[in-house]
Amino acid sequence: MTIRPAGDARITATVPIVVVGAGACGMVAALSAAEAGDEVLVLERDAVPAGSTALSSGMIPAAGTEEQRAQGVIDDASAFARDIQSKSKGRSDRAVLAAATEMSGQAVDWLNAMSDVELRLVEGFLYPGHSVARMHAPPDRTGRSLIGMLRAAVERRGLDVMTGATVTDLYAREDGHVTALRIERPDGAAEDIGCGALILACNGYGGNPDMVAKHIPEMARADYFGHPGNRGDAVAWGVGLGGEAKHMSAYQGHGSVATPHGILITWALMMEGGIQVNTTGQRFSNEHAGYSEQAVSVLAQPGGIAWNIYDASRHELGLAFDDYRAAMAQGAIRDAVSIEDLAAKIGVPSGALARSIMDTASVGPDRFGRIMGQKPQLEAPFYAVKVTGALFHTQGGLRVDGNARVVRRGTDRPLGNLYAGGGAACGVSGPFVDGYLSGNGLLTAVTLGRLAGLNAAASV
Ligand SMILES: Cc1cc2nc3c(=O)[nH]c(=O)nc-3n(C[C@H](O)[C@H](O)[C@H](O)COP(=O)(O)OP(=O)(O)OC[C@H]3O[C@@H](n4cnc5c(N)ncnc54)[C@H](O)[C@@H]3O)c2cc1C
Repeated sequence: MTIRPAGDARITATVPIVVVGAGACGMVAALSAAEAGDEVLVLERDAVPAGSTALSSGMIPAAGTEEQRAQGVIDDASAFARDIQSKSKGRSDRAVLAAATEMSGQAVDWLNAMSDVELRLVEGFLYPGHSVARMHAPPDRTGRSLIGMLRAAVERRGLDVMTGATVTDLYAREDGHVTALRIERPDGAAEDIGCGALILACNGYGGNPDMVAKHIPEMARADYFGHPGNRGDAVAWGVGLGGEAKHMSAYQGHGSVATPHGILITWALMMEGGIQVNTTGQRFSNEHAGYSEQAVSVLAQPGGIAWNIYDASRHELGLAFDDYRAAMAQGAIRDAVSIEDLAAKIGVPSGALARSIMDTASVGPDRFGRIMGQKPQLEAPFYAVKVTGALFHTQGGLRVDGNARVVRRGTDRPLGNLYAGGGAACGVSGPFVDGYLSGNGLLTAVTLGRLAGLNAAASV
């Protein structure tokens, strides 16, 4: 991943706007740039565009959407920004926070206006830290469907996506202006493609163990659940060109990945009254604090595992999720007629498990600060699934301005013709794992992708 002198490029073709990465950010950027009338080329390492976007639950948070209005949900960008800042304890990058929250509603409405895309408001429960329902997802709540819809939209418009094209090097002038990219094909052939503007949509560094060990050592030995092709290329190039990396210790973890199955178990189970216990049958945290930081809490338990404990009504809620049904099909979900039966099936002391389940009878705040409120306490029959903590994606990245332009180190001035969005850019979670509010990932993938596409198109 090197920067080479502009004069060394052997350019075979030039395209006004080139996008690296065909996840949500890259696809949205391409659709936006093309809408503005510009020719765009997306370069993707994989044979089929997927990225971490395909692995996600496809939940895009957005404020002030038509979907929200139709369901009577009152929301706007400032309420959304308050929720994000409250989770990050006021440490969110301000330029991205303002740009992302203001663009979120328009971007989701714009996507929904496409015949290929269907994003519905997720109702029935709130993700931790969101004051109103603002998650918008495909009907089956999977990232596979989200990327499938974006692929269909890109194909229908005839936009160029070159797959099996790994970008290895950039060619740039002394002032940081990128003139071309080198791509490598699976057979080893290389080609240089010229560009007018470059959008980095190649996510963060979760797939680069050395960078993970350096920036987030507490996750160095955890499973990485995101796309392995996200190796920190954007940060390496951006910093090499004179940009700046920010909040590199920020990330999204998750404390509810079925083990050994490796399937995400929706956090809705916890938000609606489920609890997590360790192998001694005891709770160890406030399950409502956030699923991201819960990765660290679960990994700190004996054996690095926990049991999600819930009951039949919450099990019904889980069945609305594709992943949960997959976990059922693979035998990850246990059921039991009583606490004693459950304790025997999952191998924890029944007395301690009974005391933990009793916690759900209190309105709260309980001894961990969790507020159960008016939610019904857990009652037989019970369900359980063994989970562990995992790294999902990194939230630190290149510092950008409110137009998704990468800025020069130590300044707010744009760096040449370089844009970044999604996991390639610094997000809105502040510097730590507990600053991640549900949906912060796809939020900046979609909004910065849209801003990058529109602004790059205006610039060329
Ligand atoms: C299990 C899981 C569940 C999640 N659920 C949610 C959720 O519900 N809501 C939410 O907001 N976030 C969620 N996230 C996070 C979310 O998936 C990411 O934040 C988001 O997908 C990032 O989008 P992106 O376009 O930046 O990156 P990606 O979708 O990862 O796309 C990047 C693409 O760039 C390509 N690439 C990388 N380097 C190169 C290169 N050198 N040359 C060519 N191509 C390259 C990759 O192959 C990849 O296809 C989840 C993450 C995981 C792992």
